[in-house]
Amino acid sequence: MSIILNGIGVSRGIAIGNAYIYVRATTEATEYNVPAKYHRKEIERLQQAVHDASEQLHEIKNKIAADTPEDILVFIDSHLLMMEDPAFDDGAAAIIREFSCNAEWALQVQCERLVQVFDEMEDSYLRTRKDDVIHVVQRIQHCLAKKPESKAEPVKLKGRIIISDDLTPADTLMMQHQKVAGFVTEFGGPLSHTAILARNLGIPAIVGVHNARQLIHPTEQIIIDGHYGVVIGEPDARSLKHYRKLRQSNVERQQRLNQLINKPAITKDGVHILLQANIDRPEDIRKLKQFDNTGVGLYRTEMLFMENNQLVDEETQFKTYKRALFRLKGKPLTIRTLDLGADKEIQESLGQGPMAHNPAMGLRAIRRCLKEPEIFIHQLCAIMRVAAYGDVKMMIPMMTSIHELEQVSVLLEHARDELRQRKVRFNDKIEIGAMIEVPAAALSADIFAHRLDFLSIGTNDLIQYTLAIDRIDDEVNYLYNPLHPAVLQLVKITIDAGKKAKVPVSLCGEMASDPKYTRLLLGMGLDYFSVQANAILEIKHIINNSNLGKLRTKVRKIMGSHDLYQIESLVDKLNS
Ligand code: PEP
Ligand code: MG
Repeated sequence: MSIILNGIGVSRGIAIGNAYIYVRATTEATEYNVPAKYHRKEIERLQQAVHDASEQLHEIKNKIAADTPEDILVFIDSHLLMMEDPAFDDGAAAIIREFSCNAEWALQVQCERLVQVFDEMEDSYLRTRKDDVIHVVQRIQHCLAKKPESKAEPVKLKGRIIISDDLTPADTLMMQHQKVAGFVTEFGGPLSHTAILARNLGIPAIVGVHNARQLIHPTEQIIIDGHYGVVIGEPDARSLKHYRKLRQSNVERQQRLNQLINKPAITKDGVHILLQANIDRPEDIRKLKQFDNTGVGLYRTEMLFMENNQLVDEETQFKTYKRALFRLKGKPLTIRTLDLGADKEIQESLGQGPMAHNPAMGLRAIRRCLKEPEIFIHQLCAIMRVAAYGDVKMMIPMMTSIHELEQVSVLLEHARDELRQRKVRFNDKIEIGAMIEVPAAALSADIFAHRLDFLSIGTNDLIQYTLAIDRIDDEVNYLYNPLHPAVLQLVKITIDAGKKAKVPVSLCGEMASDPKYTRLLLGMGLDYFSVQANAILEIKHIINNSNLGKLRTKVRKIMGSHDLYQIESLVDKLNS
């Protein structure tokens, strides 16, 4: 018999699959950091995979019947020649050293480079040989996958829907490598970092489904609707048919939106809007390319620390950030300094001591970095170094007072001195901005705007701190409302302060990724959105179908209201 459970839909989309009651995460990854001291081991792993792949080919060749056509033999020989050419794995080994990355990713970059060389050849026959490169690389990748570094138990999660009490962002990060179909958790709110990650990864997810682990049987088939927060256990044929149809219409909608890829975001009355993406790891840029060739308005660097579950040295940070910049191919990258604390923790904690009662209000983000300046200086150095290679900006989270900004300036000077002494290449004039995500900062936005190069509004936290609602607590989730007049006033104050000081202001909280608020934000004067990669096209579609002049007048009326219900109905009207 079917069972229907309700929760809070936090990442849209329909998933149909068998349940998996989550026990523990695995560490298998297709792209991850490899600290310098492990480079040799990683290169040996690569060489072993190349060796295994070439053995496989020799075996195939030996088994081939004597009357096999010559061209097939030549084809195998050419693959063998390519694998056995020392330049092939030397190239990938150099990439491992340059980017502190794993063998799989290095191999992929090496493949892209070789394919580009073949693509540029005039001879059409030689151009087609790029397929051989791809086949060889696939065979080696396959050998690498069969020999994962990780000793973790192989859990087959592909296509499964994870049911768990809660998931840390680190669990989510690790599971997405296994291509899970969806997530259901008993606790957590839509603004938890886990929920944001699920949206970033485009995986349907529902939180706050109390008792899900008792009510859903392990391995039973389930449907989840990440928009409405509905979980159906043991669905009947009618429900399956309905949700399969819905899933298909989502695919078709996405295909229609895909026509906007790489087209400008411009309102009907000709105003260009800057649309960038939020990322958690350099790997996310690969997915971003499916949606748009755009820059990054928020790179949450704490995810690098969380994936490693420890502090990360300057060199590894530098190489990881450089990898992100390299992937962006000339587009801008805004790197946010560490925002550890609250629901983002690592084992090797920066701040030791008793557990805080109220971690979101405790030693988090910039407060924590200022408490541990040596660790912060490593990150400042890494960011300024990578800024010498392209358009990189630095953004400080959870700034609350100008006094903190002054402390950051002193530490930046320290970092510059250190880099000068070490004679390392870096960008002395990197642009620095702050996140406005605490009401105190929004109320001082004009002062921040005069002292900084840009501001970015973090509504996830701004709402949490303005309305005193823990963003990860599903019990108070019903109070979490971006349309609360106090929140709207703080957002408006910040946008206006930026305009007055001629300093760019973006909005990188989840509010920017929700199509319900696009027109409202445009009418409030926002001209720079940083959103989830998979929301880019939908937001662009709304921008391209909006008339800014008309919106401004209507939004002025909304901003004049102090009644939440009235605001909600006016925003509905704006969107209809
Ligand atoms: C925010 O608070 O809106 C934000 C973008 O930062 P995070 O979600 O990482 O706290
Ligand atoms: Mg924040």
